[in-house]
Amino acid sequence: MTEKLSCRFCGSALTETFVDLGKTPLANSYIKAEADIAKEKSYPLHARVCAECFLVQVEDAVPAEDIFSDYAYFSSFSPSWVEHARRYSDALTARLGLNETSMVMEVASNDGYLLRHFVEKKIPVLGIEPAANVAVAAEKVGVTTEVAFFGKETAERLVEGGKKADLIAANNVMAHVPDINDFISGFPILLADEGVLTVEFPHLLNLIEKIQFDTIYHEHYSYLSLLTVEKMLARHGMRVFDVEELPTHGGSLRVFACKEGARHAEGSGLQDIRRKEQAAKLGSLDAYHGFTPFVEKARAQLLEFLKEAKEQGKTVAAYGAAAKGNTLLNYSSVGLDLISFVADKNPEKQDTFLPGSHIPVFAPEKITEEKPDYVLILPWNIAEEISREMAHIRSWGGQFAIAIPEFRLLA
Ligand SMILES: [Zn+2]
Repeated sequence: MTEKLSCRFCGSALTETFVDLGKTPLANSYIKAEADIAKEKSYPLHARVCAECFLVQVEDAVPAEDIFSDYAYFSSFSPSWVEHARRYSDALTARLGLNETSMVMEVASNDGYLLRHFVEKKIPVLGIEPAANVAVAAEKVGVTTEVAFFGKETAERLVEGGKKADLIAANNVMAHVPDINDFISGFPILLADEGVLTVEFPHLLNLIEKIQFDTIYHEHYSYLSLLTVEKMLARHGMRVFDVEELPTHGGSLRVFACKEGARHAEGSGLQDIRRKEQAAKLGSLDAYHGFTPFVEKARAQLLEFLKEAKEQGKTVAAYGAAAKGNTLLNYSSVGLDLISFVADKNPEKQDTFLPGSHIPVFAPEKITEEKPDYVLILPWNIAEEISREMAHIRSWGGQFAIAIPEFRLLA
């Protein structure tokens, strides 16, 4: 780690703190055997904001290869996420007039959760995905997948192989890229002249306004606003021509971009979001200073609830072994003494221990067996889906709780 940190986009010195969440293990490093707990490593989780370009970022503690080569997240395990992908494919197919002569690519295509909807429409696709194990799952649903990290080199190699994209989807990946300039420089290379890039990312404005500090973890290097994304794309010869707001991940943006010289007309969403960000002063350090006290308050509320529940002899389990839950639990120093286990539908995460807190992960049936008094939902972005699926906890008087933006019991 270097002494003087510099902005991963513009290179300026990083001197301003956004929020310092202490030292924690990697949020997606689930521990497979109890014996491995002693070997666990922790890294500083300190988000800073660049005073020049206003990119909020955490330093890269470990190489991206260590984080993503055996990634445990399979997008298709979330029904609401699969539905989001289906709507995307319908909307973009109609908007761009895609057909069997088009080419749709996705960067970080995961298990093919998105491109498979284009395959169903007989539109040619190519996934680009660094995690070999999830790429295998994508091939099984008919999504041809190139196992590679995306960037200039990968883009050039694909173009040499005769591939150009009419649509590139880069959904929830830009934040996970350490070398953001190399990553973005691949898009204008791979796009056809009138090709469209869509980039989706959790909107930094929501992170700030809804105290979503738990979305900060090492694997998530950058926290993006339209302001910084426009600057980044412009530096690489691209322009944003439209923006949509999405409910995903607690409030995301979908940015539509094309090459500078392309003909796409500006949509009204662009001015709307620019105005919102200006109103929130995202172009000034004031918007970023002053975030920490809200984070400290959320932690205090959660701990107060958990300690009180314990004193009253009530049992608390958690649901959803999500990365964001690990940030929350580790920043709050919550361990087995306060939460007895966490349930998750993903078999890859079952029978592991959460990084840091070492709370064991079981299948959701464990909740039915143990009948806890409270179930703390960690992935608040899919809280509705979870409370519907697990509605039977009410049969023994169980109650759901959420910790973000502030602690509350669900009715
Ligand atoms: Zn910067």
